[in-house]
This record gives sequence, structure tokens and C-alpha cells, in this order.
Amino acid sequence: MLIDTAHVDPPTQSTSDEPPSRVFPDHRALRRDEFWRGIPAYAKVSEEEFRTHTFQNRHTVTNPRQLKETLGALAPEGFYEDLQAALDHAPMALRISPYLLGLIDWRDPLHDPIRTQFLPLRSQQQPDHPLLQLDSLHEQEDSPVPGLTHRYPDKALFLPQLSCPVYCRFCTRSYAVGNDTPEVEKLALTTSLARWEQAFAYIASQPDLEDIVISGGDSYNLKADHLQLIGERLLKMPNIRRIRYATKGLCVMPQKILSDHAWTDALTRVAELGRSLHKDVVVHTHFNHPAEITSITQDAMNVLVERGIHVRCQTVLQRTVNDDPATMTQLVRRLSYVNVHPYYVYMHDMVPGVEDLRTPLATAQKLEKYVRGATAGFNTPAFVLDAPGGGGKRDVHSPERYDRATGISVFTSPSVKPGKQFLYFDPLHSLSEDQRQRWTIPAERRAMIDAALGKS
Ligand SMILES: *Cc1c(COP(=O)(O)O)cnc(C)c1O
Ligand code: SF4
Repeated sequence: MLIDTAHVDPPTQSTSDEPPSRVFPDHRALRRDEFWRGIPAYAKVSEEEFRTHTFQNRHTVTNPRQLKETLGALAPEGFYEDLQAALDHAPMALRISPYLLGLIDWRDPLHDPIRTQFLPLRSQQQPDHPLLQLDSLHEQEDSPVPGLTHRYPDKALFLPQLSCPVYCRFCTRSYAVGNDTPEVEKLALTTSLARWEQAFAYIASQPDLEDIVISGGDSYNLKADHLQLIGERLLKMPNIRRIRYATKGLCVMPQKILSDHAWTDALTRVAELGRSLHKDVVVHTHFNHPAEITSITQDAMNVLVERGIHVRCQTVLQRTVNDDPATMTQLVRRLSYVNVHPYYVYMHDMVPGVEDLRTPLATAQKLEKYVRGATAGFNTPAFVLDAPGGGGKRDVHSPERYDRATGISVFTSPSVKPGKQFLYFDPLHSLSEDQRQRWTIPAERRAMIDAALGKS
């Protein structure tokens, strides 16, 4: 279900407790049709071929020219120009799979939740909040060796490589992930075994580290033998108890699980090694909208379920994509239905160029109220904010202070950065006109922040 893009709760209005409807859309009705045949370039592609990762990789679209060749007249007048204008200012390069292109409703692409996430349009962009920054999570500051972020006492984030099967325009790691764009020259991290050795040596040297997130980039883009090597090296360290492979692949290219046997078997071998050592090996994935989950997703999940591989989902809350109770509830139920465990819903990070996708903190607080109670407690995700400046993840209900008028919330994180305060700023489009004006004046900005920090 889509809502009007102009929808934003006015800041003075309290969040409503009335559900829009008790009847949620059917989460069990997974698409089984040959939806891709509506795309001119895929009109003759058989189900058998569409279900291979080789077809998906070969036909992945990486520039507006290819998109035009694929879609032809399907996109509305002016669409390609609007896209190109957005790409000229975007922090992320374009990369989208045939699977996702086929799932976009091309009768109304401007409001389609999948189009919104992967194909930016200049006409929908909003000016950035004045306090946005690249690497808003300060991942590079908590990096003892290149490509490893060690922020929490017992867990760390390892980035073996920085490419993905698709590029999400809202990526938190737009400072590093993907190809350079006119706006952003990326952090250079080599995909070299020598760099990985440095990370392994560091991890082995930290007795408190028990849990490693293998992210990136995306584990889908690791070669099968590299995926296995990383898993085995980590599991064999006595201190390591848990590893997770992060991949958006299940959402954007479930075909790989079905047809890339070398990769799926490598993952299975690591999971089996984990079981034999009584250690936990899990996949973390990233779905944002119920339309991303089809019968192909279910088939891919069934393979993993049969092999005893558990999958959790981390969703990003995005305005017009999943910021209404019906969509979020349907997403959580549909994920659960295909055996993906909803783990987190993240507030959107404060990354540049995607201000149209951010919501105020109040939206996450409201959605959590609707989702909790709609299904099993263990399938109810935690709604969290990754505190800008390296505070780590915080429950959206735990700000020390939240001023809905200025849009400033203040968090503390005693186990991660004791004694420090972390600020999140609601997007300007969620504030009143008066408050928006105040943000344009540097002295007013300082006064608002000082007030939020209790300094005045
Ligand atoms: C999110 C994150 C983790 C994992 O945190 P969980 O809450 O356990 O999922 C680890 N390290 C960093 C730097 C992270 O951002
Ligand atoms: S798949 Fe993940 S890491 Fe890659 S671009 Fe999307 S959000 Fe960023």
C-alpha cells in the first residue's frame, strides 16, 4: 500500500492511536506470476532462465542508457532525465537487478517503493539537513585496522570487500561502498588477503571479541572459497562464538541461493563447521517492503531452512516506502511467513542526498506500537537508531530528551561511550515552517542544540 508522498505528521499533532484499519493486507499472497515479462527486454525470458543468478548478474543495469534499453517506453516521459539529474548529485552509483526492475510497478514508478530505493529522481530530492555528514556513524574512527570497526565490547564489524549486487541509494556506507560518483570519491579498501590477515590477527588478539559481523559491501560478492576461508578462520579462533554474514542478496537476487551451488554450498559448510564447534553462524539480510518478497524468495529461503541456516532481517525505515503501520506490519508478517526473522528496524541514518527518505523519530515510535502485538513477540523487530557519532544502536523509545518541535533527540550510550551525548535530527520536512527557518540561521542552530543538551 502506498501513501501520499506529502504525508508527514505535523509536529504539533500527537501520534494517533487509531489503526488505519484492523484488516492488514494479506502477507501470505506471494507473487507467483511471471512478473518480469512486463519488462520489454525480458518479455521472452523463461522462468527457468529468470531463476538463475547468471541471468540476473548478466542483465544487471548500471547506467541510465542500459535502463532505457531494458524498459523502452515503459518509463514515463522525462523519467530518464530526472534519473540522470539525480545521479549527478548522488552519493551512490546505479546498480539494480532484473528481479527488482520486474517488481517495480511501472504504471506508477514515481510512487513505487522499490523504484524509490534504487532509482533516485532529482524531482523528489529534498535539501539536506544542515548537520548531515558522510560516515555519520563514524565507522572509520572506531577502526583499529582498515576495514574493521570495533565499537562494542564483544562484537566487531569486518568489511572484507566493498561491492554489492545492487546499490541502495540510502546506503549508510556510501562513504565507502560502490564505485566513485561525481559527488563522492570512495574510501579505497583492497580485497586482499593481506588486509584480511591484519583483521584476523587483530580479532584473534582481542579476547573479549566473541561476535563478528561479516559485512561490506555484501557477502554475496565474496567468492565461494573466500566466503568459506573467512568463516573457517573466524570460527577456529577460540574467542569467537558467533559470526554473521550480511547480505542484501536474499532481497535483491534470491536466485543466487537457488543456482550458485558453489556459493550456497560454501555457506552451508561454514554453518556445519559452526554447528560441530557449537558456534553460531547466521545470515543477516535486508528487506524493506513486502513487495520484495515473492515465491522465489520463499524457494531460496526453503533451501536455507533445509540446511539449518537461520536468517535475520534488518529493515531501514523509509518515508513513503514503509513508514505506515499497514506496510510495516505486512512486511514483518511476510518475513516471518518465509522464515526470515525480523530483527531490527533502523531509523534512517543521517546520510546526504536521501533526505526525502528520512522520517522523524516519532514515526518509528508510532510504528513500533502497531507492530508489537500483531504477531509473535520473537518476530517483533526492535526499532533502533544507530546514534550518529558512534554511539551505537539505541532503542527509539530511549532518548533522554526529544523535542518534536526542533526535531532534536538526545541519546546516551553508557556501555559504548559512557558520559557522552548523541544527537539525532529529524528531517526538516517534518518540522513546521517556523522551525525550518530557525535551522537556516547558525546562531539559532547553536541555541537549539545547546537547549537540547541542557546547556541553557
Ligand atoms: C550493528 C553493529 C554491530 C552488531 O550489533 P548487533 O546489535 O549485535 O546486531 C557490530 N558492530 C558495529 C560497528 C555495528 O554497527
Ligand atoms: S546492499 Fe547494503 S551495503 Fe550494499 S549498497 Fe545496499 S545498503 Fe549499502
